[in-house]
Amino acid sequence: MIKKLIPDYYYKSIYDIPLSELYDKGIRLILTDLDNTLISYGQTDPSDELFDFKKKVLDLGFEFILVSNSRKKRVDHFANMYDIPYVKFSTKPLKRGIKKAIKKIAKEKYNNDQILLLGDQLMTDVLGGKRCKIKVCLIEPIDKRTDILSTRINRGIESFFLRRIKKKMRNEYDLKLKEFAGDENDWKKV
Ligand SMILES: [Mg+2]
Repeated sequence: MIKKLIPDYYYKSIYDIPLSELYDKGIRLILTDLDNTLISYGQTDPSDELFDFKKKVLDLGFEFILVSNSRKKRVDHFANMYDIPYVKFSTKPLKRGIKKAIKKIAKEKYNNDQILLLGDQLMTDVLGGKRCKIKVCLIEPIDKRTDILSTRINRGIESFFLRRIKKKMRNEYDLKLKEFAGDENDWKKV
């Protein structure tokens, strides 16, 4: 199972993602998590920077769909303001919501290696994406202090698995998870 917790890419924020490189690699559909990936739990509206990001994504030729586990009204509010198709209460890491976005919204136009999921959590986004056999890009959460209770619980489980991956798959860990896990910061504290 721990193999399914390793993302294909890691970037500190969505703004660091080399979008045209991913397009050249064949990615055509970008599915994105909402909370702590696009905005923190404390925010409700997309910023100008986020609108610019969407424009860049669409101009390059990607299809862009929001897939959020939240079932709150803020998802509808955000998606309407941001003007993006969406699936709420997507139940990641279950396949249901991700599949709904791929099948119902994107009309099954893409095969799995053309699809990339962006998200900030190992136990929901990375695991959900890998279970659907699509590519996953892990993002550093925007503001962990705003995490809701269920996410805090997931973060605990996440740390446990990060330590296991570090022990059993050191190369993969160093390449894709070390920065996310915050080892660098730990070093600075020593
Ligand atoms: Mg999230």
